[in-house]
Amino acid sequence: MAKRNGSLGPLAILLGTQLVVLYLFVCATRLGGLALPRSLEELRLLVALLPAPTLAGALLFLGWFALQALLDRSLPGRGVLGATLADGTRLPYRMNGLLALCVTFALLGAGVALGWLAPARLHDRLGELLLPGLALLLGFGVFLLALGRARTPAPPADEPLAVAGGLEPGAAAPSAARTSSLGLGRLIRDFVLGVELNPRLGSFDLKFFCESRVGLIGWIVIDLACAAKQLELHGRLSAPMLLVCACQLHYVLDYFWHEEAILSTWDIRHERFGWMLAFGDLVWVPFTYSLQALLLVAQPGSLSTLALGGIALLHLAGYLVFRLSNLQKHRFRADPSAPIWGRPPLVIETAPGTPLLASGFWGLARHPNYAGDLMMGLAWCLCCGARPLAYFYIVYFTILLVHRERRDAAHCAARYGEAWQAYTARVRYRILPYLY
Ligand code: NDP
Repeated sequence: MAKRNGSLGPLAILLGTQLVVLYLFVCATRLGGLALPRSLEELRLLVALLPAPTLAGALLFLGWFALQALLDRSLPGRGVLGATLADGTRLPYRMNGLLALCVTFALLGAGVALGWLAPARLHDRLGELLLPGLALLLGFGVFLLALGRARTPAPPADEPLAVAGGLEPGAAAPSAARTSSLGLGRLIRDFVLGVELNPRLGSFDLKFFCESRVGLIGWIVIDLACAAKQLELHGRLSAPMLLVCACQLHYVLDYFWHEEAILSTWDIRHERFGWMLAFGDLVWVPFTYSLQALLLVAQPGSLSTLALGGIALLHLAGYLVFRLSNLQKHRFRADPSAPIWGRPPLVIETAPGTPLLASGFWGLARHPNYAGDLMMGLAWCLCCGARPLAYFYIVYFTILLVHRERRDAAHCAARYGEAWQAYTARVRYRILPYLY
């Protein structure tokens, strides 16, 4: 039954990803590196190392979510319209993420200055948040499921399942794309993959909010707590810790500086909002993206000046490729005749009317922005030297972006037909020129 309804994958994601987060956290904070249990006894020992949940942890998780929601709702910001949805409408959004980040850090800074908050203690008690966070996320997933099912009419029982990750433009409005109300398998799919594309409570857009505020700002707070703990333990901050914190802070600041860009991303336009995306945003990002900083707490690491310089250069080069290629596509979409690298752009006209750019970064690879993102990710991992656990991020992120590129290619092929074929014939590489 589960297999027939395509729920085996979602079920595996539901169970597997939660176990991976717990496992990685224990490895990074208790064992200082990867440790694969080779017997039941070793597995039992590993489980015993799991941080115990506490009420304080649950309240902190909820309080952090509530603080970010309060800032989102109360701070001023520029109003913008999102991408055109399949039903032709555009949703309004308020861009106040950068201000929310600044206010958050001002509040935390004041708390530290007044002696009310101790970042190193946050590091010590981080594990207490993990199990409560996972449990709260399951509750949030149920809420999203109930909200989605209450709002969207059930299709006829024989209607085929919607494509995971949303419908293609031209199909029925995604928010009405209920997969079905029948069957455990479909219930699991709806729970994990979501029902609604853009669930909102009034003007509060749950997906847009969760995509960044709680997880991305939380990631940097965890990084800084790790740095404070390293300072407490060793009396100094190591250069790798400083570099990884600086690079990741730069990444998150840049995200909020260009916050509007999220509105044209795959997640916002095509991915329904259910447990999977919410878990990714609220637990996976802060607890696994901070693995390098978590690892560097106990073993500060030492890298030569040359290595540190090389890593910083790799991050900056990746950033330039990532940011400039995203901006190039954004500007091209706004004005398809504007010069690219000082020359008229190479344009491929398409039947739906949105042209494809085949020069500049987008003439070198079909997803140059992914290449830049991967270069930055590799730089962060390299800060930990030869510790395999630190490379989890680049392995996971490569799999995610390769998979994402395939899904996006299928979407573009269906949408643009011959024009997409002409583009892919001209631009041979998917992500990395001459490699892939
Ligand atoms: P993109 O921003 O690259 O958007 C892909 C879309 O761009 C396509 O669906 C198509 O949209 C349009 N497009 C594709 N090729 C062309 C072309 N040649 N000319 C013009 N338009 C084109 O993808 P994502 O939303 O996946 O990624 C956005 C950013 O987010 C990336 O930089 C990525 O690295 C980053 N990211 C970061 C993650 C993280 O966890 N840190 C996770 C995932 C992504 P249309 O249908 O409108 O034509």
